[in-house]
Amino acid sequence: MKLKDYLKELYHCFHCHLCNVGNWHELDEWVSICPTYAYFGFESFSAAGKIEIGRAFIQGKIKKPSSRMLQIIFGDLGCGACHSQCKDLTGLNIDHVEFFEELKTKLVEEGYGPLPKQADYARSIQRNHNPYWEKHEKRTSWLNSRIPKGGKIVYFVGCTSSYRTQEIARATVEILSASGVEFGIMDGEEWCCGSPLLRTGQRKLARDLAKHNLRALKDAGAEKVIFSCAGCYKTFKKDYPKLLGRTLDFEVLHTSEYFWNLIKEKKLRPRREEGIKVTYHDPCHLGRGTGLYDPPRQVLREIFGRYFVEMKRTKENAWCCGAGSGVKAALPDFAIWSATQRLEEAEKTGANILASTCPFCKRNLEDAEKKVKKGMEVRDLSELLSERLT
Ligand code: SF4
Ligand code: SF4
Repeated sequence: MKLKDYLKELYHCFHCHLCNVGNWHELDEWVSICPTYAYFGFESFSAAGKIEIGRAFIQGKIKKPSSRMLQIIFGDLGCGACHSQCKDLTGLNIDHVEFFEELKTKLVEEGYGPLPKQADYARSIQRNHNPYWEKHEKRTSWLNSRIPKGGKIVYFVGCTSSYRTQEIARATVEILSASGVEFGIMDGEEWCCGSPLLRTGQRKLARDLAKHNLRALKDAGAEKVIFSCAGCYKTFKKDYPKLLGRTLDFEVLHTSEYFWNLIKEKKLRPRREEGIKVTYHDPCHLGRGTGLYDPPRQVLREIFGRYFVEMKRTKENAWCCGAGSGVKAALPDFAIWSATQRLEEAEKTGANILASTCPFCKRNLEDAEKKVKKGMEVRDLSELLSERLT
């Protein structure tokens, strides 16, 4: 959709501010839901404020965006909590996340964005196929066993687990191997999925990455591609078809749903672990982004039984960890603050472990834990499962 085509739906926003403080049907209190509004405190940082700014920009009332405006727009998390609240409570059909991404793309095309750190990781992606300024040749340095290249079932590792949270990649491989599934990885043919670019309006380079990855997976004969990263998963599942105007040649699965299927088929039999309390953080790209809420919970219940407990803000109402859409790179203090809020919420459940299903969430929550020392163990679902295989 072109940016100006959003105008009509943007006019429907009546500044009720329900998207800042959701009052969920099952609760009897108002709870903060928009991290940017909660942290920065001005209306311009709320969804309604960004809608107002975007509308003024489309209508040419803003001739030259100020640096403050760019910080507001490119500092948005794209977490989609506003969208859940707005559609649920007002019945309006504003697609906030899509609109914010479209607005960022237009600003980049006109030479106004993204923020410097977000442009910096784009340069790294261009040069190294990852946003971390790491050498492409080291992409599989986490591997501790030989895995075939390609095949019908492919595990797409993603940049964060290839370079920063390698324990997730190793745990995933361990689980897949234990289940007896024949699978491969893409080795040097795997490039960044493009999520950090799409979320910051840098669409042109993202399209090149999509073309490369799809071509490589086709050449590898992939029929099923499995992702341990919520960001990669959403990018393949939702963004690639839109970006390239076609359906994919293979099935796209997140590890949580694949693991759950393997458990149901009795190919995996995790050991029961009673007594350790675990709670679960829904990654925005997996939950609100693709609607995958239940499989991670089913796996956790299978292992921890009644010791799996929920936080107050879950599923559609989950609080964002604060890392996404290039925010961890550009606004690190805000990212850590958002993650700290989540740790505090997890702590209130009495849980010892905060589990998630996204390496990027894990990294940010772990960074916050190191800072505030709540004594919370931050783990990925794959780690918890791999440690309990029988
Ligand atoms: S809930 Fe919807 S209508 Fe109300 S302020 Fe937020 S975006 Fe606008
Ligand atoms: S996407 Fe998230 S951070 Fe952005 S306005 Fe909506 S709730 Fe706030």
